[in-house]
Amino acid sequence: MDNIILFLKPVSDSKGRNIVRDFVYGCWCNGRRVGGMQMPPLNELSCATHVRNVGLDVMFIDAQYERERFDAMMRSRFAGIRAVALMSSTQSFRADVELLGRIKKLKSDVQTVLFGSHPTFMPRYGLKDPAVDFIVLHEPEETLRCLMRELINGHSVSGIEGIGYCDERGEPVINPPRSFMDMDELPVPDRFLLPEGIDYFNPVVKRMPYTTMQTSRGCTGHCIFCTVPAFYGNKYRMRSSEKVLEELESIIALGYREVFFRDETFTADRKRNVEICEGMIRKNMDLKWIANSRVDAIDKDIMAVMKRAGCHMIKFGVESGSDEILQNYKKESDVQQTIKAFALAREIGLDTHAHIVFGGPGETIGTINQTIAFAKKLRASTASFGILTPYPGTELFDRVAGSYPEIRDGSASNMDNLHIHGFFSENICGISGEDLSRWIVKAYRSFYLRPGYLKERFCRMESLEEFFILLTAGTNIFQFSLTGEN
Ligand code: SF4
Repeated sequence: MDNIILFLKPVSDSKGRNIVRDFVYGCWCNGRRVGGMQMPPLNELSCATHVRNVGLDVMFIDAQYERERFDAMMRSRFAGIRAVALMSSTQSFRADVELLGRIKKLKSDVQTVLFGSHPTFMPRYGLKDPAVDFIVLHEPEETLRCLMRELINGHSVSGIEGIGYCDERGEPVINPPRSFMDMDELPVPDRFLLPEGIDYFNPVVKRMPYTTMQTSRGCTGHCIFCTVPAFYGNKYRMRSSEKVLEELESIIALGYREVFFRDETFTADRKRNVEICEGMIRKNMDLKWIANSRVDAIDKDIMAVMKRAGCHMIKFGVESGSDEILQNYKKESDVQQTIKAFALAREIGLDTHAHIVFGGPGETIGTINQTIAFAKKLRASTASFGILTPYPGTELFDRVAGSYPEIRDGSASNMDNLHIHGFFSENICGISGEDLSRWIVKAYRSFYLRPGYLKERFCRMESLEEFFILLTAGTNIFQFSLTGEN
């Protein structure tokens, strides 16, 4: 009897470029892929591990890197597979549904499940398509575990919290939501499920192989373009420092030499942050690491202890160099706080990354120029530039959809279009997507090709390994800066 649950990360976009499907902060377009970043699919791994831990048979395929294995699965018509689950983002949604349709054609009785931000915020769009049997809303681990257990046991699933499905009349049913988990009950994702022999590349790491971790979920911010707060119920939850240190020890034992904490704001809880860093120092952990923070959630003492614990870079959502635009984004921080945070990081000896978006409400060519100059003035070690995009689950999307219902579920914003056309950009700020795309290329050129930048980067290098990582990233960025293609 077929009883394997397949967690599948499909091949990314039509050109095979990487899409990180887990969250969409509002500008996951070319800006963050220009350096060639690849992310281990941690959320899918967490789900697969949590489901497997109740004794269910689980398989994971990252088709981007395991093409042959995926093709063999297609050729076998999904032999042995009872259910296929995949994480879907707004940009990948149409391709994901199309893929599930192809899978259903090969094996009509396979159960298909979508989870992630797009199914959560637009569940009825998913259920409209006969290729999709179930939608999992919000935090997926426990809901997927319950759903898969009942499917495998042949029980009714109609009472499971947090799912959507169609009833016998074909009408969509969205069950009440499930409570969010205690984060210490989440499993350590089983990294043995990842493709063998593949090292995911990240242009800003110092050492390979690297992996990612998530030690907290959610954000209490209100940025109008961000899906994170609504996805996690406008709450911030975190794992205890003990659990975090345990996972860090386990990844060191697996041979990882660097970790990127993908928490939205790793530094949100000062006490826990210090406990983690001091634990890493006490245990003499040989790890380099990177974390996301907010300019208003960090101070010099925290930066110093992070540095001593192995941190070498902090990533900040700078977004804009204009206070007016930041207010329009409801960013709840200002340009002066950004200047201060970047200056402190430099003083402590930490690299910084500035995430920047163009095309928000109130944006003009003047504020774009101001922001490019600001990024250089900050002396950020690296910067990424993207076009603001309205995604379901955000205030920005609701505003755009209120005036332009033709946006529907937003899933026409696929990666190919974002590069060239933007997505409702003209309606948001009056600047066309084509013009914004040109400004993105100009921003990269202006930031990375300025005199002295390369010299400074190379002077700060600590090893030959870092040189080769920078060389790969630099080649990607220069190609994009000169041609607008990546
Ligand atoms: S601060 Fe919070 S709400 Fe704003 S972009 Fe970051 S995660 Fe999203």
